Amino acid sequence: MNASNYHTHTTFCDGTDSPEDLVREAIRLGCPEIGFSGHSHLAEDCCSMTPEGTIAYCREIRRLQKAYCGQIRILLGIEQDYFSRIDREQFDYVIGAVHFVRKNGHLHTVDESPSCFQRIVREEYGGDGYALAEDYYALVGNLWEQTHCDIIAHFDLITKFNEGNCLFDTGHPRYRAAADAALKRLLQAPCLLEVNTGAISRLYRTEAYPEKRFLDRWLSAGKEIILSSDCHAKKNLLFGFERYQDLSHRETLLPNPAAEGK
Ligand SMILES: [Zn+2]
Ligand SMILES: [Zn+2]
Repeated sequence: MNASNYHTHTTFCDGTDSPEDLVREAIRLGCPEIGFSGHSHLAEDCCSMTPEGTIAYCREIRRLQKAYCGQIRILLGIEQDYFSRIDREQFDYVIGAVHFVRKNGHLHTVDESPSCFQRIVREEYGGDGYALAEDYYALVGNLWEQTHCDIIAHFDLITKFNEGNCLFDTGHPRYRAAADAALKRLLQAPCLLEVNTGAISRLYRTEAYPEKRFLDRWLSAGKEIILSSDCHAKKNLLFGFERYQDLSHRETLLPNPAAEGK
């Protein structure tokens, strides 16, 4: 399989392997490229890179680009949270992501744990999970305007702990209206949507993000997708790619890899 992953976390944020170990794994698997996407600094996010860590991360990925030149193409990206600011010029590409909602003056993570998610619904939203979904999708719909990202991360991350509709019904009119409005806005943006297998590898979900009906709508509008493992450990670098490889998808983030070395 001639696949590459661009959503890759390392020990610079919440991944378990060093960038160099991941590069070696990508070479072993025959990947033409690998893209790194450390979590952008956000004070409220313990999984994100510190400002100093971000500088060291950039330096290390640029070092690897030179060290492995001719063996694999390496891209320096970042997973930019909606509430985080970055210096766009430093990076080859940006993955835009909503991991938090702002409610009652504070940021609340939507993807930490089932108990944390249930607490937010109960304490911040008075038990109304649909109100949380509406706040979440309002941010997702605005994600390209906010970040000018190249890739939209895990469109329906809000369902991470909702397997089997255990917390809210994704067929409910309020949920559908909020998600559909976000997708409609993103359809106008010049970005890719990722098919993200990360929550399958971590056993939270049985299907990739996003739900099939969003994916179908995106593809039927003539928009492109990209496969992502949202890898936090090298053993999952191409996790689940075989299952989704028949979807028509972008295989490289470089506009013209053949011309790159000229
Ligand atoms: Zn993410
Ligand atoms: Zn990620």
